[in-house]
Amino acid sequence: MKGLPPPARNPTAMIDPFGRAISYLRVSVTDRCDLRCVYCMAEDMTFLPKAEILSLEELDRLCGAFIGLGVQRIRLTGGEPLVRKDVMTLFRSLGARIGPQGLKELTVTTNGTQLTKHAEGLYAAGVRRINVSLDSLDPGTFKALTRWGRLEQTLDGIFAAKAAGLQVKINAVAMKGVNEQEFDRLIAWCGEHGFDLTLIETMPMGDITGDRTDQYLPLSMVRADLRQRWTLEDTDYATGGPARYYTVAETGRRLGFITPMTHNFCESCNRVRLTCTGTLYMCLGQEDSADLRAVLRDPSVGEAGLQQAIRDAIARKPKGHDFIIDRRHKTPSVGRHMSVTGG
Ligand code: SAM
Ligand code: SF4
Repeated sequence: MKGLPPPARNPTAMIDPFGRAISYLRVSVTDRCDLRCVYCMAEDMTFLPKAEILSLEELDRLCGAFIGLGVQRIRLTGGEPLVRKDVMTLFRSLGARIGPQGLKELTVTTNGTQLTKHAEGLYAAGVRRINVSLDSLDPGTFKALTRWGRLEQTLDGIFAAKAAGLQVKINAVAMKGVNEQEFDRLIAWCGEHGFDLTLIETMPMGDITGDRTDQYLPLSMVRADLRQRWTLEDTDYATGGPARYYTVAETGRRLGFITPMTHNFCESCNRVRLTCTGTLYMCLGQEDSADLRAVLRDPSVGEAGLQQAIRDAIARKPKGHDFIIDRRHKTPSVGRHMSVTGG
């Protein structure tokens, strides 16, 4: 697939009403997935009809418009991005946009199941860092959490990524009574293999036919507990994401905490999220969105019109989210599933 020539980058083009420059775009390339993680999806999910989904060429064109407006980092996510047919053509066309006047970094968040097939292709396309979700190193817990997953397949994928030269960060969602006894093991394992680790608080998104108040584990408590056995040294390392990082002195690797529920990270938010239908969400924790597919498919709208539609959406970016796990009604505070916007 051939990408459009990148328009000249205008780094001041996307400043939101609260003075935050938008430089990071997360793109959910599919809502489908080969796993059914219990905190993310119901077992029986209805996915979008194919006609509603942007083609890979359309996704590339939209990403190009964002790059022209100052986006420097793009992360492809999903659903599971690596199960979308021919997705490597999108990686290649976006990778070709990396350069001094274009994109600085192209990354991916994946469950790892397809990495033995795609790790080398990702590296060849220009990807250097990847996030792999791995909540447990115990085969039984992993299976129970992912419903359909096999630990070995994900581990093989992770090691294929490492062998291909990709820097791997492991993401683990922290769940009370599920994997809370495993954090020491995960820290040690990541240290052994040279991976950074980020722990994530469960976020109340989408109906998962379960009770989230039972799973919710505040990471402030986890961190305090880990400090009894590990030396967590402060670091000013930042990836442009919402994680707060420490260096684990015993392993030399970084340990990050993403705490949307106990700490409000909105002040420094530099990101927006695009779904595979071309819907732009200006905030992960709010419902407001802009339909860029209609603009993209309108033959009377050119490149300038597309960029204007994006600017108009950024002008509506809210100050922050208000996630709450409603203890009385136990309903999610945001109705869409995480697999729609990709986290
Ligand atoms: N399928 C890929 C994966 O699992 O890495 C990418 C998409 S997944 C939606 C992105 C990230 O969101 C994963 O790290 C996953 O663990 C996390 N996630 C999903 N649902 C979540 C929830 N309700 N709360 C917190 N994190 C969640
Ligand atoms: Fe799939 Fe990722 Fe959601 Fe798990 S967290 S069901 S792997 S999209």
